[in-house]
Amino acid sequence: MSSVKKVLIVDDSKLIHQMYRLVLMRFKDCKLIDAMNGLEALEVLSREEGFDLILLDINMPVMNGIQFMQKLNEMGVHRKIPIIVVSTEGKEEDTIRAINLGAWGYIVKPFKSENLYDLIGKVVAKRDAVTSAGNVPSA
Ligand SMILES: [Mg+2]
Repeated sequence: MSSVKKVLIVDDSKLIHQMYRLVLMRFKDCKLIDAMNGLEALEVLSREEGFDLILLDINMPVMNGIQFMQKLNEMGVHRKIPIIVVSTEGKEEDTIRAINLGAWGYIVKPFKSENLYDLIGKVVAKRDAVTSAGNVPSA
């Protein structure tokens, strides 16, 4: 299993943050940073580095997940941090937009913790493979 040491959680539901905490506890010594919307997440990324992963909700006040990803693309940075989009059932068009904007994976709410855990493992392993090959994926 690839190491997951630092994760940015972006979701407007505190309950979801707690649920992610339970799943991510399984990655030893993983530090979690919470943001309640895209704008808060941008602020976190402007002052902190070294994230292995971003778990991103789509529907949030202030700045939603799609706007957040558009902003990252405009800035041309952070492409190397894998993003997993957590979308809501029946909102497939949001998922497609997020993938087109560069999301590495997606999971649909409600989901099983086991499935999220597996997806995180896969995405981080892919990131490690790409990083060791010396290139960063394009959208
Ligand atoms: Mg939400």
